[in-house]
Amino acid sequence: MPSLYADIALPLPLHHSFTYIVPEALEGAARPGCRVLVPFGKRTLVGVIVQMSRETSQHGLKPLSDILDVHPSFASELLSLTQWVAEYYLAPWGEVLRAAAPLSLAAESKRMVRLSVADVLALLEKTRRTAPLQHAVLAALARKGTLSVTALQKETRTRHIHAVLRALEANEWVKTSEVPPESGPRIKTIRTVLLTGTGRQISEEGANNESSKRTVTARQRNVLATLRQLLGERPDGIPLTELLRASASTLSIVQALARKKLVLFQRQEIIRKPDEETVEPAKHIVLNMHQELALAEISQALQKGEYNTFLLHGVTGSGKTQVYIEAIRGIVAGGRTAIVLVPEISLTPQMVARFRSHFGDRVAVMHSQMSTGERSDAWRLARDGRVDIVIGPRSAVFAPLERLGLIVVDEEQESSYKQSDASPRYHARDVAVVRATLTNSVVILGSATPSVESYFNATSGKYRLLELPERVDQARLPAVTIVDMAEERKRSLAETRTRGSAQSPQRRWSPPTISQALYAAMDRRIAAGEGTILLQNRRGFSHVVECFECGYVERCDQCEVTMTYHSTKKHLRCHYCGRVKAPPSVCPSCGGIDLRFHAFGTQRIEEDLQRALTRGTILRMDLDTTTRRGSHERILQKFAQGSADILLGTQMVAKGLDFARVTLVGVISADTQMLLPDFRSAERTFQLLTQVAGRAGRSTKEGEVIIQTLQPHHYSLEYASAHDYKGFYTEELQYRKELDYPPFTRIVLVELRGEAEGEVLQEARRFAQQLTTHANAPIFTVLGPTDAAFARLRGKFRKHIFIKSSKEKDPGGALMRSAVISAQQAFSRTRAATSKKVQLVIDVDPQGMM
Ligand code: ADP
Ligand code: ZN
Repeated sequence: MPSLYADIALPLPLHHSFTYIVPEALEGAARPGCRVLVPFGKRTLVGVIVQMSRETSQHGLKPLSDILDVHPSFASELLSLTQWVAEYYLAPWGEVLRAAAPLSLAAESKRMVRLSVADVLALLEKTRRTAPLQHAVLAALARKGTLSVTALQKETRTRHIHAVLRALEANEWVKTSEVPPESGPRIKTIRTVLLTGTGRQISEEGANNESSKRTVTARQRNVLATLRQLLGERPDGIPLTELLRASASTLSIVQALARKKLVLFQRQEIIRKPDEETVEPAKHIVLNMHQELALAEISQALQKGEYNTFLLHGVTGSGKTQVYIEAIRGIVAGGRTAIVLVPEISLTPQMVARFRSHFGDRVAVMHSQMSTGERSDAWRLARDGRVDIVIGPRSAVFAPLERLGLIVVDEEQESSYKQSDASPRYHARDVAVVRATLTNSVVILGSATPSVESYFNATSGKYRLLELPERVDQARLPAVTIVDMAEERKRSLAETRTRGSAQSPQRRWSPPTISQALYAAMDRRIAAGEGTILLQNRRGFSHVVECFECGYVERCDQCEVTMTYHSTKKHLRCHYCGRVKAPPSVCPSCGGIDLRFHAFGTQRIEEDLQRALTRGTILRMDLDTTTRRGSHERILQKFAQGSADILLGTQMVAKGLDFARVTLVGVISADTQMLLPDFRSAERTFQLLTQVAGRAGRSTKEGEVIIQTLQPHHYSLEYASAHDYKGFYTEELQYRKELDYPPFTRIVLVELRGEAEGEVLQEARRFAQQLTTHANAPIFTVLGPTDAAFARLRGKFRKHIFIKSSKEKDPGGALMRSAVISAQQAFSRTRAATSKKVQLVIDVDPQGMM
């Protein structure tokens, strides 16, 4: 028989897999999707078998060292999905596999092995002659307790240690558990006690046996008897502390028994459970007419078992989650499984408790604040079919559920679904749609403010649109007031002047952050004991030049994004196309001469409030006050209980809008979002303000929203205050079409960064030239290289190249991608030759353009 070959994806930044020979002894165990150990240069790496064959044209191949999985870690469907992600997002397949599973694909396997039999001495006897390799492993474990695979291999000098372990595991003589290398303290274990064969004998003989009287004391015998009794129910081992308590004995007595080889100490893993939520029984809810209609369409598609994507458009509180729950109930009843993706920030204990109240233990939760161990526990629950539903942020789209029927993507417009900071730079919503096509599943994308891309897909027939036009509680949408802060500034300055002062009022005056209208509204709430939420998004973007009088901001004539001021070169620059302008000295809009930067953060606002408000207490919530796990929840809880009048924070406070006592929401500056130099900044502004405006107030008390801005007539503000999604969408789509932005084009953002600016620029130019001279170049547009909006970050210079490809000429983007791949290969070659320290990042469908 010819040798068996396996193609293996390794977690290395290389765009191909590697072929190894499968040793004969391991042929029976090798299957696609299994993790393997392979020699790679001087290292040993963990990879995944992606394909196997009896033929190869390659020579001088090495054998793989071992196979780690009894059951493949990746089902064939997940292999296809990760392959698609690798190709579409231009990432190495091995890197995608690593991102898809919280399993160790790091340099070395760190599995821990322990015995799982009651009578190890008998087993040692039994295996001594029939299975010497297994015997050696068992003996080492009996001697040393729990050992890592590496340690076991040293201890026993067995070559294919994993194959031996697999046999032992299949007999349930040992148990292994994954220890992710980066997770600090390894597996959580407790010390347990077992009886050895002789120990069991003595414990059964009773007190009258003369021979045993000589070997054990009465107190020791008592311990043996208690242990035997306890083991009757739990043969896996009894926690030492429990044995001591139950037999009223001391540690030294048990240790003496261990020395006499009558009992055996072990360590047993404790299954970690993340902070458990209190679960209340589910409320019985009768769906309203709109919900029923939406569910009926979804159920029909689910019954057909065909791929379908629905966009469920409904304001917050319109009952979308209830529709998800009912759809999942149907799926689970039919023996299939579901994934629920939620943005990390929405993955609150309440959210999880709501799903648990319906589906109990059949739900596994994955989130990034869990320890790696907790996450791999959850992953295993899903793989082994012990849960039907997985809830989690973007990486949960890869949950190893079989018989998948439904994927829900809640708040589908959230940019956190895109992994932007590390490869693979995938978008979980789009991956969800692809996974659904591979598995004939249904996708529900839910949102109060769908992304322009998804709404476009829903109205052009690619997705199906479902609408929930009303809130369940019939609450009216709050009145929205827009306050022109340029006017406010003028008035404040005039007041300061007329008040007059010996100490030069001009110098002491600073622009107000809070308008009189907002102060007055807050004061009324404090008097009435009602809550106010103040939103100041981010810390602002200070590289924008703005007219102090009228709020005018300079934008690129060609790209419509705000231009960025570079203080070193003293010019304005469009970081999309590279166009440069001198900053205006006179405002082109009003003729004002006071042109400045602006930006203020939550801390400054807090100080202003404390100075100006005569009563009331403030809670601040932003990245600085919520670094600790659960602190986010604690602040919201404090506010809900009424211990503060005002909750001030970045967009995370938007979650706090759900409280009945909140009747006023103030947006300190809508401009921080609106002026970001990104083509999605209007869309993001609209989304944020709609979320805010949709939540203030309840059926009983009317809500009010006050938005402060220097651009009071910007269309994103006007549509948001009129609660008009379709109006916004229609206007925004028009711009996107005129300026060739998504959904009409596909964008790839190429970033080159490094410490030497000259080198970075040279490489960036070379890269751009590779693109423009490629055979497919007539299909796409190349912009740049230009400085990134943040031209220097953490000591590295950043240059951007934007590639836009029309969806008409290049529907799947394949022509553009192949040009990028050749440019990338050329880059790797020159970098290898010149050893310049320039890094390359390729982001397909980028969410952030800065
Ligand atoms: P969304 O996901 O759109 O924000 P939810 O499904 O969370 O909306 O519904 C908002 C609130 O209304 C929840 O407390 C939910 O339990 C309740 N709810 C949902 N549907 C109904 C219904 N048909 N009748 C009564 N209450 C409902
Ligand atoms: Zn431009």
